[in-house]
Amino acid sequence: MSTDTVGCVVCDAIYSLRPELADQATQCARCGHRITYGKRATLAWLVSLSATNVALLAMVVFLPFLELHSGQFENAASVIDVVLGFSSGIMVPLALAVLAFILMLPLSRFLLLIYALGPIAVGRRNLPYAARALRGVFLLKPWAMAEIFMVGVAVALVKLADLATISIGPAFWIFAGVVILNAYQDTLMCRHTLWTALICNE
Ligand SMILES: [Zn+2]
Repeated sequence: MSTDTVGCVVCDAIYSLRPELADQATQCARCGHRITYGKRATLAWLVSLSATNVALLAMVVFLPFLELHSGQFENAASVIDVVLGFSSGIMVPLALAVLAFILMLPLSRFLLLIYALGPIAVGRRNLPYAARALRGVFLLKPWAMAEIFMVGVAVALVKLADLATISIGPAFWIFAGVVILNAYQDTLMCRHTLWTALICNE
């Protein structure tokens, strides 16, 4: 197999890596930034993190996200209620788009990653269309915006705090956990390592 050209994302140094180097952790000779991760360790981590995130997202859908108390009025809302609750008429498509960006796209990314890399992590052959699934994982990355939603919710909470007593439900903290785990997972997503592992497993 031919060598792969990989750039250091910190200092722009360019390296030609042999495929067998994808099995080892490599560091940039100039700045020390991690270029590739060891294949097995990374794959197992990525698949288990994705499975954890899928389970957490499923809990987010069903548990209360925010609880409002104002006088005698009391209301608990799930994340779907929160997004759809403020929409009517022309705002419905926008609310659905928000729901897609914060829940469906991150969920699709996790499921595609498990589909593409799960078999490699447990030592099986690739499933059909595994390469397409992995391409989808990288394509969807800029569109999964759970963290931006959390910033929006935080701003809204500060503004609403004067109008009603708001308690934060368990789904809020779980969702925050998903955002942090997802950020950590993205730091492990080494394209070179993942693609080499996938192609070598065909
Ligand atoms: Zn570097």
